[in-house]
Amino acid sequence: MSYTHDVLEMSKKRNPAEPEFIQALAEVLETLDPVLEQHPEYQEAQILERLVEPERVVIFRVPWQGDDGTYHVNRGFRIQFNSALGPYKGGLRFHPTVNLGIMKFLAFEQIFKNSLTGLQIGGGKGGSDFDPKGKSDGEVMRFCQSFMTELSRHVGPDTDVPAGDIGVGGREIGYLFGQYKRLCNEFTGVLTGKGLNWGGSLVRPEATGYGAVYFAQEMLGGVGDSLDGKTAIVSGSGNVAQFTCQKLLQFGAKPVTLSDSSGYIHDPDGIDKEKLAWVMELKNIRRGRIKEYADEFKCEYIAGKRPWEVPGDAAFPSATQNEISKGEAETLIKNGCKVVAEGANMPTVPEGVDAFIKARVLFGPGKAANAGGVATSGLEMSQNAMRLPWSFEEVDEKLHGIMKGIYRSSADAAQRYHQAGNFVVGANIAGFMKVADAMIDQGLV
Ligand code: NDP
Repeated sequence: MSYTHDVLEMSKKRNPAEPEFIQALAEVLETLDPVLEQHPEYQEAQILERLVEPERVVIFRVPWQGDDGTYHVNRGFRIQFNSALGPYKGGLRFHPTVNLGIMKFLAFEQIFKNSLTGLQIGGGKGGSDFDPKGKSDGEVMRFCQSFMTELSRHVGPDTDVPAGDIGVGGREIGYLFGQYKRLCNEFTGVLTGKGLNWGGSLVRPEATGYGAVYFAQEMLGGVGDSLDGKTAIVSGSGNVAQFTCQKLLQFGAKPVTLSDSSGYIHDPDGIDKEKLAWVMELKNIRRGRIKEYADEFKCEYIAGKRPWEVPGDAAFPSATQNEISKGEAETLIKNGCKVVAEGANMPTVPEGVDAFIKARVLFGPGKAANAGGVATSGLEMSQNAMRLPWSFEEVDEKLHGIMKGIYRSSADAAQRYHQAGNFVVGANIAGFMKVADAMIDQGLV
């Protein structure tokens, strides 16, 4: 049996109740065999055994009070997975589905994603099973303050720098930052995704969606094609989905779907600039449901389903993990989908990924395609350290350059290991080798 197989089996035994974490481990480990054969020094240093075990996991109680005076208790997490390349970095997710296994899968993915950006950032992730939906601003603020009261002991600008993720946008980052500042008496870049006039970076809100579209454009460019004129199927309607649509429009593509956890809308005329502005107001200000789009613009709303049955040339899953099943991947292929860029983390189930690769669909895995968000967070950290902001154009140009670099290093690694065009293998190998080499350089830690 191979080294990767043994480590995966050991991890399964050690983490029996963490299916998403095991899924993420398997997806990475299964692609590393050729590298480990060529580099016996990795096994000698027990790199995989060390890599699959987080450096630190913090789990804590988050008590908070509702507007009606009732008491509530949620569970908070911070996974500090790997600091070989820099301070832990990764978002905070507030969603009722959050649990230890999901946090660990996200933090594990983050290690390789952050490595691919070429910036000095290690891998982490955190969050809570708190559901911000339907809560008042006051309740969200009290929750965030309580969450940060504990988290502040574990983070810092040179230690661990969280950002947003599902359920954590500008409002939540503001409350978390305010509480950190109050507790530590420090105005530092301890979080990214901050407001523009208090240390945030231009392009951070746009970065993940823009990056996913840049990555898709690079993959298409590699085969002499482009996004221009393509019909795009987008899921989700939050941060990533919104800015994916915006960049798709700029590249001449036509997004025709958006979704949330209740269903999806299909607008065959395309979600144009004006309609997208309306969605942003609906989702970010009124905090309404995507169904309202269908009422406003008189198009179809399909309750309880995901948009992958709609024919299109390009797919941008931008909602959550495991949102494209094997059957849905096959439907996309059958309908002529040529390119998939994962804006969300691990949105495609492993059998779906296999189907895309077998059908030679250009498939950009999340750790490469959605790395634009964390890359721009890294750029926010640089600006905070210099106390000097860059212009929108400067940050966007750097982001675009980083996404091109990720495409190049993934494509080159895939080619080197005789799997040209397989960006899953390429991204895993390119991300892994930098981290493994740094771990060896730093001794047994
Ligand atoms: P948001 O909270 O802004 O939006 C999430 C969207 O996904 C909402 O439309 C939400 O619908 C939908 N969604 C969430 N959970 C589910 C579910 N279980 N089933 C169906 N739909 C669901 O989050 P983001 O846009 O920031 O994040 C989306 C994805 O992108 C996540 O996988 C995240 O990890 C990933 N990502 C985000 C980055 C960022 O910079 N924001 C960076 C890299 C990756 P509803 O309102 O009904 O819950």
